[in-house]
Amino acid sequence: MESKPAMTSQEEERMIEDAFREVLDGYLKSNHRKKVEIIERAYHFAKEAHKGIRRRSGEPYILHPIAVAKIASQEIGLGSTSICAALLHDVVEDTEYTVEDIEQHFGKKIAQLVEGLTKISGGIFGDKASLQAENFRKLLLTMSEDIRVVLIKMADRLHNMRTLGSMAPNKQYKIAGETLYIYAPLAHRLGLFEIKTELEDLSFKYEHPAAYARISEQIRESEARRAAVYSDFSAPIKEKLDEMGLVYDAKARLKSVYSIWNKMETKHVPFKEVYDLYAMRIVFDCDDQSKEKSICWAIYSAITDIYKLHPDRTRDWIAVPKANGYQALHLTVMGPDGNWVEVQIRSRRMDEIAEKGFAAHWKYKIGEGDEESELNVWLKTIKDILDNPEPSAIDFLDTLKLNLFASEIVVFTPKGELLTLPAGATVLDVAFALHSQLGIHCIAGKVNHKLVPLSHKLSSGDQVEVLTSKSQNPLPEWEAFLATAKAKTRLRQALRKNRQPVVAEGKKMLEQWLESHSIPDNNAVISKLLGTFHVPNREELCYQLGAEEIVLGDFLVKSLKKQAETQSSGLLSKLLKFNLKSSSKNAQTPKPAADKPQINTKETYELHYDENGSNFKIAECCCPIPGDEVMGFIDDNGDVVVHALTCPRAQVLKAGFGSRIVATSWQKVAGKSLAHVHIDGIDRLGILQELIQMISTHLAIDIRKLDIEAHDEVFDCDLWVRVGDVSVVNALCEKVRSINGVQSAARIH
Ligand code: MN
Repeated sequence: MESKPAMTSQEEERMIEDAFREVLDGYLKSNHRKKVEIIERAYHFAKEAHKGIRRRSGEPYILHPIAVAKIASQEIGLGSTSICAALLHDVVEDTEYTVEDIEQHFGKKIAQLVEGLTKISGGIFGDKASLQAENFRKLLLTMSEDIRVVLIKMADRLHNMRTLGSMAPNKQYKIAGETLYIYAPLAHRLGLFEIKTELEDLSFKYEHPAAYARISEQIRESEARRAAVYSDFSAPIKEKLDEMGLVYDAKARLKSVYSIWNKMETKHVPFKEVYDLYAMRIVFDCDDQSKEKSICWAIYSAITDIYKLHPDRTRDWIAVPKANGYQALHLTVMGPDGNWVEVQIRSRRMDEIAEKGFAAHWKYKIGEGDEESELNVWLKTIKDILDNPEPSAIDFLDTLKLNLFASEIVVFTPKGELLTLPAGATVLDVAFALHSQLGIHCIAGKVNHKLVPLSHKLSSGDQVEVLTSKSQNPLPEWEAFLATAKAKTRLRQALRKNRQPVVAEGKKMLEQWLESHSIPDNNAVISKLLGTFHVPNREELCYQLGAEEIVLGDFLVKSLKKQAETQSSGLLSKLLKFNLKSSSKNAQTPKPAADKPQINTKETYELHYDENGSNFKIAECCCPIPGDEVMGFIDDNGDVVVHALTCPRAQVLKAGFGSRIVATSWQKVAGKSLAHVHIDGIDRLGILQELIQMISTHLAIDIRKLDIEAHDEVFDCDLWVRVGDVSVVNALCEKVRSINGVQSAARIH
């Protein structure tokens, strides 16, 4: 930066006064209340505090807070409280004064804003400028308390970017990168489009100076040609609008340097192709807000009388405003030179909201009653996440970036309610967005009346209905297909909440059971139990006990007592626990086919049943359940593995290891096992509810897992239920087959 010609202190003083006057004049022209006195006091206070301090460029420091106040007031539309906070924003950070001093002089609200601004300086948002999640977190925390903090910070950053030329080059590069990475998207999310565009252009200028200069030059060169094309296109439209008696501004919309470059880079097209796609914007005056919509459509109709309409590119952001508040009617028509031209139609009010964002919104609101705008909902989501102590700062940044930077989709509830979600959001996200309870009990969804699984990814415009079941429980795996931070947080909370009382209950059950059988509660006993039930630790054992997924049966007593006494183990001791008994009842013994090797039918092994296996193991290939015709096979560890007689693997075992086959009989049924049932049929409205209701309510069967897939009119359903024995599954299948629309229902082995 070239050095400025030296100024006398009087000249400097006048320059400062002039700069401040501009802030005041702009403020007095706005719709805000005229609280000039406090603004003047804040100015004098800040000026005194920063006295004698200069910026790197050599100017008096106070010019910076004045410039920030001006941006906050005139470019963002904030009022006196924010102007004061902007004037004072560096006082606590850079001078001897404290937040308490500010509060004493200017009251609590301004002091809070200054404190928020001081807190988030440093780190990512300060001069030290390194990407630190913790600071980002702080910023958003402050933001959810008072959005003005982040808006003033945005003004601060914009001024720093405008004066970046006087910084050291290495710092320029760093600050520009950070601005592009975090501030520009944040500005976009907040609806500050002008500021976003300027931040992008300024960042681009410092990051890619050569490309910036080249594109700027090309824009200048093509100016005359573009003006001619625009005038050809706009003349007949203007004529028509004049005929309609409208008061309006019409102008060519210029693409920013950065967005031209971005398009050239991502689409690999030359400058000419990008730049020729221009747009026109019409902003009309209208005092009566209720007439805006019909005027927009009247203009739309006038334009389509003149030019050919592109059928797929009309965007009605009036009926459905964007999440950041944007409203307008967009259409694309074929211009006289054969190129598509976008026309944006807005009222003056819509235009202000579009350019200045939500702050401008406030101008049109009467009183303090701030409605639940989409932005407030978003801010509340952030607060939800921050209130949850669990996520680490980095996780938090990731989940939040997801919401902040992802493009959005808009979906509808059956009642026509509108939800804005990040792209990639699923049915389950919608369920959680509507209510935690809906999310936790969500079993499936209907998208545009078609049955879809929880994980179904939604598209913009989808109509989404959430189907729930009381028997549904949240699963940790769900997190993988959640796209919104809110849903993830709510799921984690539900999982935690669900588990703890169950673990406590299980712990009590375990202790009581051990005591009642006089089994010591020692390591040997517990590790024996862990092995028996295939669980990794005591907590999980208690959880499964509490959830009644496993049951401590009497058959365990003997081996546990033995375990408590001796540590010795081996094939022999394992074989001892088989407790092989002679049985005179051979009625249940399966009759081997004549051509198959003999099964030892003299001894029948009694299967003391428990879900996770107790004195036997369930073969994974065929997963028999009590009541199935089964046989036992003694494996290399000496354990009895139970196969279904129909299992192909069992045939092989019978052929090869006849001596290790035992006949079995189902004995005590102490628990429940998981059976897999497949159902398919023709999809119709309500069939799923009927199905779920029949299974869980009428038959009182516990559904553990449900996978549903719908292709066109057909649905496929995989169901895992917990049942005592096979007769229950058979009854279930029979009942389900009686539901209108169901084609088949059968157990899968
Ligand atoms: Mn500053």
